[in-house]
Amino acid sequence: MLSNHIQNGIETAKLAWSRLPTSEETQSSDPEPGSGVNGSKVESLDYEIIENYAYREEQARRGKLYIGYSVMVKWFFSLLIGIGTGLAAVFINLAVENFAGWKFAATFSIIQHSYFAGFIVYMLINLALVFSSVFIITQFAPAAAGSGIPEIKGYLNGVDTPGILLFRTLIGKIFGSIGSVGGGLALGKEGPLVHTGACIASLIGQGGSTKYHLRTRWLQIFQSDRDRRDLVTCGCAAGVAAAFRAPVGGVLFALEEVTSWWRSQLMWRVFFTSAVVAVVVRSAMGWCRSGNCGHFGSGGFIIWDISGGQEDYSFQELLPMAVIGIIGGLLGALFNQLTLYITYWRRKYLHKKGSRVKIIEACAVSVLTSLISFGLPLLRKCSQCPNLEENSGIECPRPPGMYGNYVNFYCRRDNEYNDLATIFFNTQDDAIRNLFSAKTFHEYSAQSLLTFLVMFYSLAVVTFGMAVPAGQFVPGIMIGSTYGRLVGMFVVNFYSKLNVEEGTYALLGAAAFLGGSMRMTVSLCVIMVEITNNLKLLPLIMLVLLISKAVGDAFNEGLYEEQAQLRGIPLLESRPKHYMRRLTAKEVCRNQKVVYFSRVVKVADIVSALRGSKHNGFPVIDYGRNGETLVIGLILRSHLLVLLQSKVDFQHSSLPSGSRDGSLTVRHNISEFVKPVSSKGLCIEDIHLAPDDLEMYIDLAPFLNPSPYVVPEDMSIAKVYNLFRQLGLRHIFVVPRPSRVIGLITRKDLLSEENEESTTVELQSTSV
Ligand code: ATP
Repeated sequence: MLSNHIQNGIETAKLAWSRLPTSEETQSSDPEPGSGVNGSKVESLDYEIIENYAYREEQARRGKLYIGYSVMVKWFFSLLIGIGTGLAAVFINLAVENFAGWKFAATFSIIQHSYFAGFIVYMLINLALVFSSVFIITQFAPAAAGSGIPEIKGYLNGVDTPGILLFRTLIGKIFGSIGSVGGGLALGKEGPLVHTGACIASLIGQGGSTKYHLRTRWLQIFQSDRDRRDLVTCGCAAGVAAAFRAPVGGVLFALEEVTSWWRSQLMWRVFFTSAVVAVVVRSAMGWCRSGNCGHFGSGGFIIWDISGGQEDYSFQELLPMAVIGIIGGLLGALFNQLTLYITYWRRKYLHKKGSRVKIIEACAVSVLTSLISFGLPLLRKCSQCPNLEENSGIECPRPPGMYGNYVNFYCRRDNEYNDLATIFFNTQDDAIRNLFSAKTFHEYSAQSLLTFLVMFYSLAVVTFGMAVPAGQFVPGIMIGSTYGRLVGMFVVNFYSKLNVEEGTYALLGAAAFLGGSMRMTVSLCVIMVEITNNLKLLPLIMLVLLISKAVGDAFNEGLYEEQAQLRGIPLLESRPKHYMRRLTAKEVCRNQKVVYFSRVVKVADIVSALRGSKHNGFPVIDYGRNGETLVIGLILRSHLLVLLQSKVDFQHSSLPSGSRDGSLTVRHNISEFVKPVSSKGLCIEDIHLAPDDLEMYIDLAPFLNPSPYVVPEDMSIAKVYNLFRQLGLRHIFVVPRPSRVIGLITRKDLLSEENEESTTVELQSTSV
């Protein structure tokens, strides 16, 4: 049918490519400049199925068996993603815990003799680790810097930032995280794990890495952007599930925070992947507990079991808890704003000067962090250890950094501990465990908590945006739990008759700060419950999250949205802006001069069109019997480049190709048109054509998308926006009002059995 339609009324291919005249000869408006890593341009993905002739032929060949096979492979891939991400998380944790363990053990043994020498060793180890991280990022994998969540969010929203899902990015992310987290910077490994999961998913989806010759053919089944999108969603959920040992939190994180399109089949697969991760991580933990993994034992993975804490809460406590929510919203919004300014300044002035500046910057921040975390506890007075109950699980004192609890650091007596060192001079997981601790004595002074809050908040702001892999979850939890505990101390004194736990307030503070900064609600709530193993606190966590999100929203956007904007990632949020209701499609396209091709087009004209514009999609027109113009479809730039490079479709004649009955010939396999994921792909400068080639013609009919989405010129941009967002489109044609209607389709037509039967018959006859 398609070929008949195209064949109808073709006289000669006229104008090859040209500009449809518009009333005003002005330049087409450029979209907001998107510059991803290294200033490379972000590009939209083709989530729409290009139903061209090659695709239709292939669909007709596929039977029910193939559908069953592809479903099975999808589940198998989900399993592989779960296993891969789980193992990557175990490896990162194992390395971080061991590096941190060795660092603290070496420092502690030296400070027995000299605190200055101890500091030098501590600082140098941190510096070496941070240097390794920033070196990997600047020299090998620039796309692995930061948490990667804004870029992955962009990818799932339909925008590809070059390099984010490459094999080298995965390697950079894993080893870079080990250096930056092990080096004691004010950042976490959880965001990078989401990116790691996404990279693993994408690599599995494309059957490995082409560049590094690590590719297997039998895995190369899902090659469209759409299929990869589903796999990357599974990878994101797996990353969160691995980072927090929170499988349900992982599923909800993918749903609430990163994806733009969701459907029930995907939910099942994401759920399965998260469950696999949970099993892998738990098995690895079990094995490590028996001492097989050096310093990595029960710590490392975030799980702060605070069961045994506050059993119940009273009505009066709701007020201070609401205050925690408000402070969380304010501090979170302030964090977003400050990091936005600093990142902007960095990108504009500092990072432009090259990788040497990035390395110096990271090293300077590392020295500063070491100085603060080692130096400030030296200024604190130590406190007497209380008489702790036996089997309470708490030990006091302990040498610094030796598996948490109360650290004896620069104390005169053996039974004293330094409360500031207990937070600063420890791994972040141990520090948080201490801050969340319940049923203990009032071990922190307000002065120490305040000092830590101010210092760590400032460090986290400065560290954010450096050229190292960096997550914001753990710094957020540290900041939130510190101020939460401060509020808790006040509440304990105020409501002395109630059974109030400071640890509970620390937990609520952590939830509130994360809610105020990241603006997640459901997923964060479930993650907090999963990592603390305390279901009783669920209503309280919900309360503070709702308040902190509402307060934060009053000031600015969430952390990831702001960072995405700053990086030039054009995210389409779930709802169109209000002004869009008044604007029509015609008004938006007013100044455009449409660049289009005729059905049979001269090679030289394609080349000059591709060189002369950066557009990624072009309408293709044909001429009816009476000479009227027919828009027969949309051709993608990437497909044109494949045709130019392969040359197999070049013809001498300017008449349409194909046989007499009108059917078209396709000499390409559909996989040849697949653009490599997250890399630049072909560009016109890579293609070299001889002068004779330029005189040839190509018939575009077999390769174009004959059914692009079309909207009438009067449609409001709000409606166009919803179409784009909900269908994951890349191009929409704006056309004048159609002259006639050939039919109407309603819900019942879509479900009609008659349609199904007729399609089956048609398919059978085509495959014969
Ligand atoms: P993508 O989302 O595919 O990465 P883009 O918006 O970055 O695309 P272009 O395809 O070059 O880049 O689009 C830039 C502007 O040009 C847009 O405003 C768009 O409406 C317009 N445009 C796109 N394709 C054409 C075309 N074939 N002719 C005329 N204008 C076009």
